[in-house]
Amino acid sequence: MGTSLFPQHIIARKRDGHALSADEIAAFVRGATDGSWADYQLSAMLMAVFLRGMNTAETAALTDAMMRSGVVADLSAVRAPKVDKHSTGGVGDKISIHLAPMVAACGVAVPMISGRGLGHTGGTLDKLESIPGFRVGLSMEEYRAQVDKVGCALIGQTKELAPADKKLYALRDVTATVECLPLICASIMCKKLAEGIDALVLDVKFGAGAFMKDKADARALAQAMVDIGNAMGKPTRALLTAMDQPLGRAVGNALEVAESIACLRGEGPADLMEVTYALGEQMLLLAGTVKTATEARVILEKSISSGAALAKFREIVTAQGGDGRVVDDPARLPQARLRVEVTSATGGYVQAIGAMEIALAALKLGAGRVKAEDAVDHAVGFSALVKIGERVEAGGVLAVVHASSDAALAEARESVAEAIRFSAKPVQAPRLVDEVIG
Ligand code: URA
Repeated sequence: MGTSLFPQHIIARKRDGHALSADEIAAFVRGATDGSWADYQLSAMLMAVFLRGMNTAETAALTDAMMRSGVVADLSAVRAPKVDKHSTGGVGDKISIHLAPMVAACGVAVPMISGRGLGHTGGTLDKLESIPGFRVGLSMEEYRAQVDKVGCALIGQTKELAPADKKLYALRDVTATVECLPLICASIMCKKLAEGIDALVLDVKFGAGAFMKDKADARALAQAMVDIGNAMGKPTRALLTAMDQPLGRAVGNALEVAESIACLRGEGPADLMEVTYALGEQMLLLAGTVKTATEARVILEKSISSGAALAKFREIVTAQGGDGRVVDDPARLPQARLRVEVTSATGGYVQAIGAMEIALAALKLGAGRVKAEDAVDHAVGFSALVKIGERVEAGGVLAVVHASSDAALAEARESVAEAIRFSAKPVQAPRLVDEVIG
């Protein structure tokens, strides 16, 4: 090893504000993967990056090294264009579950590796696991074979995928270095780029229920991820979308799967479908199968009206060991013991429905996890949530709570009522897709 690749020298260079070379960054990532850098050296480096930042070339080198720290799926045998979608996470964001089969039904392969929920946001894997028998833990070989045969696989992160990210993320979590743009960007993009995709669409959320509260911060993250994806030869586009109220009318694992099935049947809530179509249009555009967003929209709508997207979802569920009958009969999904309507004490127009308050209430019902090792209750959560702009009369329904205990039910009823604010005057439903970047 040349002296310049000693950990302390690399750390010192970043500490002093220099841009690191690709070799130096590769040495750091190797050190995280093979244990040759001590945790205190990795942590010092993370803090130096946090304080000094990284330019686009450094962030691209970091993303590339982290991606190559494990297996990079080779999907070259899949002839269809391969495009994935990633969301930075929101409340009630179940879009992947119905968007992936919609896009796959349009002839574009969707190799999707998702995460679990932690804290206030739910995870696609937890939602999918509410389908009896559904296996998210496919091997890389099964994943490859299913993307080829079915056109879509919805799986969880395997041990082989970007192990450097696992190590570095655990250290960031305990060293106050999570909120750092190049580190977030590399962490998200290394996992997505290891999936074997040709192109990527990002849903970067901003607002009260998002990871990034501030639109300017979300835009900066979106631009950084778009730059990195493009720098690594994978056309990448980001949508900035608002996350102030829950997306759709359901929050909770099985309840969100049921809502995704409703979307595939053409019965999805307008706000959810607005973001779904906007993302799907970009996926088809990046895949190169259409020339305009309007053309993409027509094809995506047809995937629903023809039943092709619903059939594709059934095929995915069955291929992954799930009970395909839930697709036609969502009542087969786990059901909570208690199901009670929350009614409004006053009438008016819904002015706000706090995404964070609803998410925390769902967490308390047992729908999410506080610690990574916690179990989730698939059946609990909320359905029939009102939306901003809707008129509610006194005594009208604000939501239905699905709970497993009387105490949890009582607390959730109160939380829903507190999360909603009314206006006497009509309120405009908010615009959800704010900007397309890239
Ligand atoms: N999600 C990730 O995977 N990594 C981050 O650093 C932040 C969000």
